[in-house]
Amino acid sequence: MRVLITGGAGFIGSHLCERFLNDGYDVIAMDNLLTGKLENIAHLFGRDGFVFVKQDVTNYIHVSGPLDAVLHFASPASPVDYMRCPIQTLKVGSLGTHKALGVAKEKGATFLLASTSEVYGDPLVHPQPESYWGNVNPIGPRGVYDEAKRFAEAITMAYHRYHGLDTRIVRIFNTFGPRMRIGDGRVVPAFLSQVLRGEPLTVYGDGSQTRSFCYVTDLVEGVVRLLGSTCSDPVNIGNPEERTIRDFAQTILRQFDSKVGMTFLPLPQDDPKVRRPDISQAQELLGWAPKVLLEDGLKATCDYFRNEINR
Ligand code: UDP
Repeated sequence: MRVLITGGAGFIGSHLCERFLNDGYDVIAMDNLLTGKLENIAHLFGRDGFVFVKQDVTNYIHVSGPLDAVLHFASPASPVDYMRCPIQTLKVGSLGTHKALGVAKEKGATFLLASTSEVYGDPLVHPQPESYWGNVNPIGPRGVYDEAKRFAEAITMAYHRYHGLDTRIVRIFNTFGPRMRIGDGRVVPAFLSQVLRGEPLTVYGDGSQTRSFCYVTDLVEGVVRLLGSTCSDPVNIGNPEERTIRDFAQTILRQFDSKVGMTFLPLPQDDPKVRRPDISQAQELLGWAPKVLLEDGLKATCDYFRNEINR
């Protein structure tokens, strides 16, 4: 079995490369290294069956030989990154998804799209089931990511319906773990690096907005199960344990016995007020539920950031 993973040098992509290699697949990781980095996959270079190709997937993708699956994970994914690279974000979600679908169709491979809870925008239904159509501001700063992923879902379903392509769509909720970029602006790298550097935690707004955090190995397990299923409709994968950002900051301060405290900064525009996945589809169709405790995931992630900072 042979898979192409776009965004293979990114946070989630690199964990997928590792998982598929461990499961005996040959893996082609493709990445333009805009937000991914080679360090994330450096430990895989010596392994049999692993190939890295530096390419921007918004251009025509050529892969020689057969492919069984194409996993399209290329995209800036943190609000700071996609607001810094708005055009690239729109292009990789639209043109990049088109190219990745094209190579899957050419090879007769199963196509799996990394979509996002951002398709629900600032949700008016809570928790969010897959049947909810969302509340997205198309012209706001986050629209570049949200609308790109909504387009990506639409073109994936069009390839499924019109070309009969075997497709999957995973809607990924907040995920964390080693290999997140320390400066990517997301709340987990921000808070953990602040604790490690002895700086106050930067809570945006009053911290009453909620999120739920899934550890990366749980997410990867969900993706593997989805790929092995026959579900062409979108499936949420995330941890349903919801907390406010302020509670999350307090949890981190307690867990790391830190006295740095919090500082309150303005809430970014269109920041969703609540977010929590309804995972009944993943439970029923894939027999999936998250297993890793938040504290254990935070500890492993903190160890990673400590090394990064020391380096
Ligand atoms: N956030 C925060 N401080 C930070 C970074 C983020 O309070 O230093 C908040 C942000 O406003 C949002 C939540 O934490 O409400 C999660 O933000 P993140 O950027 O991780 O991802 P999002 O869920 O918004 O895509």
